[in-house]
Amino acid sequence: MTNTASTYDVIVVGLGAMGSATAYHLAARGARVLGLDQFKPPHELGSSHGESRIIRQLYYEHPLYVPLVQRSYELWRRLEQDAGQPHLMQINGGLMLGREESGLIKGVRRAAAEHHLPLEEIPRSRLQERFPQFIPMAGVSALFDPHAGFLDPERCVAAHLTLAAARGATLKNGERVLNWAQQGDGVRVRTTHGTYEAGKLVLCAGPWITELLGAMGPTFNVERQTVTWFEPPGERAMWMPDRFPIFMCEFEDGQLIYGFPVGPRGWKVAVHYEGEPVTDMRNLRRTIEPHDIARVRNAAARLFDWVSSAKLLDAASCLYTDTLDLRFVIDFLPGMPQVLVSSPCSGHGFKFAAAVGELQAQLLLDEKSDFDVAPFRIDR
Ligand SMILES: Cc1cc2nc3c(=O)[nH]c(=O)nc-3n(C[C@H](O)[C@H](O)[C@H](O)COP(=O)(O)OP(=O)(O)OC[C@H]3O[C@@H](n4cnc5c(N)ncnc54)[C@H](O)[C@@H]3O)c2cc1C
Repeated sequence: MTNTASTYDVIVVGLGAMGSATAYHLAARGARVLGLDQFKPPHELGSSHGESRIIRQLYYEHPLYVPLVQRSYELWRRLEQDAGQPHLMQINGGLMLGREESGLIKGVRRAAAEHHLPLEEIPRSRLQERFPQFIPMAGVSALFDPHAGFLDPERCVAAHLTLAAARGATLKNGERVLNWAQQGDGVRVRTTHGTYEAGKLVLCAGPWITELLGAMGPTFNVERQTVTWFEPPGERAMWMPDRFPIFMCEFEDGQLIYGFPVGPRGWKVAVHYEGEPVTDMRNLRRTIEPHDIARVRNAAARLFDWVSSAKLLDAASCLYTDTLDLRFVIDFLPGMPQVLVSSPCSGHGFKFAAAVGELQAQLLLDEKSDFDVAPFRIDR
């Protein structure tokens, strides 16, 4: 089927975490929006799947993210209400473990101090009493973020898409963008099904973003991650959100693991970064091999010794798309003020999607925003 060129205010390429939120915020502002995705989001082929995503306020990566994540909390709650979808976000607290000199602990303290956020210090002698699931490690600090919790990524994406369509966005699944070009002040986008024109284009293509940018724009490195779900020992109630927080742990050698309370697929744990480099998205290994599981098992067993022999319930692969400094990119391409690049956010972006969607809609519609995008510029 071939379409003749149709005209929109904005074309959103990719309807995962960032694209679904951007399409929603654009449509909510009355813009004529076309959203295109090569698959049918939410799906398991990109970066926005797997039952849970951490959200936390004591942002160890850099305090500059704190206002943006605080706006996200507000918008996720609003999305729950507007979409009639409770529990998109559950706040059960987050435990951060690491040595005082680790990037995790230093960063958490810095974010708390700069933004005057609550931070609970759990002395080593009290950790077992408060969270008996964790084995206290010598020389390791335990800091609790009372605002941390987790999001349901598939339901968040679906809720944004449903509301975007309800606000008038045209959303097309199973339609791949083959290429795009500037056309006067606007853009022309060619897909597997036709050609479309718009005033602006936003590329929210996740790990496929380099296919659409070619030599333009910043460097992105894709890494393949494996997430695992195990059967936790003992009483299941011990691992439920009211008794077990989300957690992150940085070991002495810098390895980071994170995990969640038990959910429908089991108790989820994964290694942060150190993934397998992906150079060609068309030849991506989708199968889970024993060595993928062994890697997570070995890392997680450093904190939970029972994981070495725990029953594996499920596993999935997922893709991080990293900038060189792991900071986001939210910027127009140099010399092309009609083409916005929305970075897939270096393995820590989901929690921000609601606020990034709003911010990107404001940038695309030349509205004033409360956020300074200078740290996310391509030429920073
Ligand atoms: C294992 C794992 C754990 C993570 N944990 C956390 C966490 O705990 N907390 C957190 O905040 N973040 C986390 N993240 C990061 C977060 O999930 C990502 O930053 C976010 O999901 C990226 O969303 P995206 O919209 O950029 O990409 P995606 O959701 O992958 O969406 C991109 C979309 O673009 C479409 N597309 C691509 N190319 C084309 C084309 N040519 N034509 C049409 N459509 C196209 C794709 O089909 C896809 O639907 C994690 C990521 C992974 C992989």
